[in-house]
Amino acid sequence: MNLLTNAVESIQVGVEDYQSGARPRLLSAVRNIHAGILLLYKEALRRESPNDSKDVLMMAKIAPSRDPNGRVVFVGVGKNTVDVRQIRERFEALQIGTDWKRFVRINEVRNDVEHLYPRLDQKALEGLISDSFLLVRDFIANELKHDPLELLGEETWQTMLEVTEVYQKERQECDRLIAGVNWGSPTLQDGVADLTCRECGSDLLKPVESPIGEMIFQCSSCGEDESPESYVPKAVAFALRGASYEAVKDGGETPYVRCPECGEETYVIEERRCALCKHKAEHSCARCGCEIPAEELDSSPFCGYCAYMMNKDD
Ligand SMILES: [Zn+2]
Ligand SMILES: [Zn+2]
Ligand SMILES: [Zn+2]
Repeated sequence: MNLLTNAVESIQVGVEDYQSGARPRLLSAVRNIHAGILLLYKEALRRESPNDSKDVLMMAKIAPSRDPNGRVVFVGVGKNTVDVRQIRERFEALQIGTDWKRFVRINEVRNDVEHLYPRLDQKALEGLISDSFLLVRDFIANELKHDPLELLGEETWQTMLEVTEVYQKERQECDRLIAGVNWGSPTLQDGVADLTCRECGSDLLKPVESPIGEMIFQCSSCGEDESPESYVPKAVAFALRGASYEAVKDGGETPYVRCPECGEETYVIEERRCALCKHKAEHSCARCGCEIPAEELDSSPFCGYCAYMMNKDD
């Protein structure tokens, strides 16, 4: 089996699927392009594997063995090849570079596409094609040392390039509009840039002012509107994903909590304000004067202890 040929064919077939535009073919486009990228990654690991090691670096399971001279060597065993987590570990160890941020997005679309997006269409996948094109182009050139245009072929290259150019222009327009809005919260502003449409998965979302003066998001692909009640909690969770992870891991203070006013998970501790309803909670306990811990803001203007004591007295 020639891995590189398989990888390239998988991407070419995926792009043909994409061009057809019908929903089943679009699902197949996502699967094929994703599979093609994984094969490119495995090819890079295969090339780095020592001779007579049974392609050790691209195999999921590695075991010690002896070569004909009695020396200990490591070889690949079984039929399973590396999964994404292993690819990432081995790339890091061997300094093989790829754009993991783009890959994570492609991987998310791959996992979500069949179940989550009732309105999936060609336009909604422009972001995926663009991410894939930039990732594949750079990986082929920088790590596999091939000419990406030559390897992918004129047709696949042109199709991906054109979609990428259209997409990038629209993305810039979305970013420009997002930057022009006064979000009243740096966390929210940070998080809205990562939102995707809940109907079709596209990330080409434009902020628009609704007739009642709310900032809503409108999908450029399927036209779906999303209200602040729906997107603000997602945006806050996106923006503070890293901080939440750290808080759980190291036992630090949680970065956002349920807002005591509107009840959504949108109260940003550092900003001392709710990103959704703009409520500013009292952070000092009205009974004992101590600083109310983030987890107890629910009972603001009292700390958890005082709220408990007062309830008990009732
Ligand atoms: Zn949409
Ligand atoms: Zn609130
Ligand atoms: Zn208190």
